[in-house]
This record gives sequence, C-alpha cells and structure tokens, in this order.
Amino acid sequence: MTLLNSTESLRAMDAAHHLHPFTDASALNAKGARIITHADGVHLTDSDGNRILDGMAGLWCVAIGYGRPEIADAVARQLRQLPFYNTFFQTSHPPVIELGHLLSQVTPDHINRFFFTGSGSDANDTIFRMIAHYWAVMGQPDRTIIVSRQGAYHGSTVAASAVGGFGFMHAQPGLPVGNILHAPRPAWWAEGGELSPEDFGLKVARDTLALIDGIGAHRVAGFIAEPIMGAGGVIIPPDSYWPALSAGLTERGVMLISDEVICGFGRTGSWFGCQTYGTTPDFMTMAKGLTSGYIPMGAVGVSDRVAEVLTAKGGEFAHGYTYSGHPAACAAAIANLGILRSEGIVDRVADDIGPYLQGKWRALADHPLVGEAVMTGLIGAIQLCADKGARRAFDEDLGVGMMCREHAFANGLIMRAVGDRMVVSPPLVLTHAEADELVEKAWRVLDLTQAQLG
Ligand code: PLP
Repeated sequence: MTLLNSTESLRAMDAAHHLHPFTDASALNAKGARIITHADGVHLTDSDGNRILDGMAGLWCVAIGYGRPEIADAVARQLRQLPFYNTFFQTSHPPVIELGHLLSQVTPDHINRFFFTGSGSDANDTIFRMIAHYWAVMGQPDRTIIVSRQGAYHGSTVAASAVGGFGFMHAQPGLPVGNILHAPRPAWWAEGGELSPEDFGLKVARDTLALIDGIGAHRVAGFIAEPIMGAGGVIIPPDSYWPALSAGLTERGVMLISDEVICGFGRTGSWFGCQTYGTTPDFMTMAKGLTSGYIPMGAVGVSDRVAEVLTAKGGEFAHGYTYSGHPAACAAAIANLGILRSEGIVDRVADDIGPYLQGKWRALADHPLVGEAVMTGLIGAIQLCADKGARRAFDEDLGVGMMCREHAFANGLIMRAVGDRMVVSPPLVLTHAEADELVEKAWRVLDLTQAQLG
C-alpha cells in the first residue's frame, strides 16, 4: 500500500485499473476520482482530509449512518462461525431464518415470505421471473407484460434496465426490450402544465390505466413503481395519484410491485413507502436500507396470496443466486434492523427529524434559483429553474445541476444532480444540528451557482 499514499497516486492507479459504474471514463480521468477514505455518522472524509456532509447516505442506503460497530461485530462473528453456505436445494442456516422472521415483523402484515438476492437489480429480476411463474401457475400465461414508468430506475441488469425508464440506458446497445410498457410519471413541476397537482395526479393515474387497457389488462402481469421515484429525481406524487392508480390496478387484476429499494426501511417516515401511500403491493423490492449498505444484499417480499399459490402449486422455482441469503449479509441486516428498531429511527423520521428538516428544506423555495423544494420523510429535491413563476427549466446544455453539484462538493456537501433537480436522502440518524448544516450549505451552494450563472 505504500504506492497508495497520496491522492495523486490513488487517482493514477484508479484511472489505470478501475472501470466505474455510471461514469464517463475520459471525463473522470481528466480530473481524477474523488477518493473517500473514512466516514463516521453522517460525515465523509476524503483523501485530502476534507470533511463532507453526506446528504445522500452513500447511494441512498446508509440509513443508520457510518461507523456503527454493532454491524462490524455481527458480521465478524458470523464470518468466524459460518462465512458461507448456500440456501439452494433444501438447505438453510440460522441467520437467514432469523432475518426472514424479523422482516415479517416490519413489512406490511400481508408480506411474510422473502427471497434473498445480492442487490436491488437482481431482486427486481427475481420478481419479473416470479410473477410470470405465478401467472402461469394461475392458468393465465398471457399475463407477461410489465408496466413501468418513464424516468424510473429499477437497476442495471439487462431486465432491470429495460424495465426502467431511463432513455439514456435504453439508448446503449445490448438491451432486448420486450413486453414492457412505460407509463407517464407524476412529475407535476415539469409536466403538470396548467393543472393543479391533484388534478395532474389523477390524470397520470388515468393515463396509466388507459395504457394498460389499451394493451389489454389480461396481458399485464404487474405494474412496478417506487412509492416516491428516487433516482428519477425524487418525484413526490400528488396525494391523488396512488389511491386512484392502485384502485384501478386492483380492478384490473394487475399486481403492484412496490420497488422499496430507496423508500424502504424508514426513508419516507414509515417502514415502507407503500405504507406512507396506503398501497398493498404483491411484491416488494428491498435492498440498500436492508443492511444500510454495510454489506450488499437485496430481498423480494412476497404477499401471502402469491406465496401460498407458489408454495402449494409452483413446483421448483428455477432461479437463485450463489449469495441468496449470504450469512454475513444476513448478520448485517439483522444488526441493522435491530438498530432501526431499538433506536426508534423510523418513528423519529416521522415525528422529529423528518418534519424538522422538511421545514427548513421547503424554505429553500425562496431562493431565486429554486422552482420547488419538496421533501417527504428524509427524501427531498429542489428544482433549479430559469423562471420560477413560469416553471421554465434551464437550457439543458448549461448543465446547471452539475454546476451546483460541484459547488456542493467543494463546500462540504454531497447532493446529487438529476438534470437540474438537486436531490438529498441523508442518513436517517441526522441530528438537528446536522440538518441545519445541510440546509445552510445548500443555501450557500445555490448562491454560488447563481453567481456563476451571472
Ligand atoms: N430499484 C431502485 C428504486 C433503485 O434506486 C436501485 C438502485 O439505486 C435499484 C433498484 C437497483 O439496486 P442495486 O443498485 O442494489 O442493484
């Protein structure tokens, strides 16, 4: 490691050997990667010793904050006792058994069975296979279409990127896109026109159901959506959207897949985002907050009515991952759930730090650059815009979001830019003082961005 004792040498070696996800390598190598070396609580430290408030909880995942020894100890204990065994072919082990039991206590009452995966992407792939299997067992093999939404992110495997609604991912070769439809998203600021948010929410729900009716509801296996669209820009739906849409899906026999990879484990102020919006999904995708990102892990939650059919009549489900129910990942998840529960972290998001940060965050709407400032639980966005009154966006080529993101980083704050929408999703253990720090830094960063725009 003596070679790696300076930021420069780390950057050079990173550029030589590491292909990064979602990164333009030539742009990265021109500048060099940001190198994060330590973290504690809600703060990161980079290789130059700068301390940065992590407004994104890593990648929306470090719910309990960094540096919790309980997780490290639980994983170390498990690695000593049973570092690996698989869960294929009628075998199991205590940590995976305990984790399933604990999850059934925190998920909605009708979700009691879990299939374990290595990530959110392969959890979604698992659902696409399981739902098709379910409909075949039910004697409706024509129900194969998955309806998703434009601008949604559901992962990076071939199936998950096809189901997701990012045009730039579809544009890259190698993606067979079949049996997938993309419905509109309830993005009022950008697409609501003259309608009120509530009327727009109803319109998007109606348009989604019309899309399903157009292809024939009897051909649709499921509708996948996040309760709040996260990586697509933290699109918080109008209150009218979910009740109208979920009632229409139920009428048509279309199953709801709630992708809880970001919204799960307290992010929206309930254990799961579907509870915040009152929907009853048949499948739930989980990852990120399941282990707070300390060890990779995903899971699929399956409703009783689906699980009962599959366990009674489904035969062998020919699907699985070497690391399905990895003992060390289970140990991390168990310890993480223990912290979330014993410290009342989900209630704290609902009743204390959530409302506290929301109040301060929404006040950012007074900044001349900000068109809207929204937040539910501890997930929020500010929309940068050229004209607030007219809801007019900046010219995309200006790259205002990226400009703002760079100012944020240089000023000790991680915010993510989705186009010109700045999003945050801090660790759920954020203190009031850290919430103040986050918003003060965001103001400063907005001022700097405005000054740069001239
Ligand atoms: N689903 C959603 C909603 C996500 O935000 C993500 C990742 O950001 C995924 C699925 C994919 O999860 P992973 O990166 O663990 O494969």
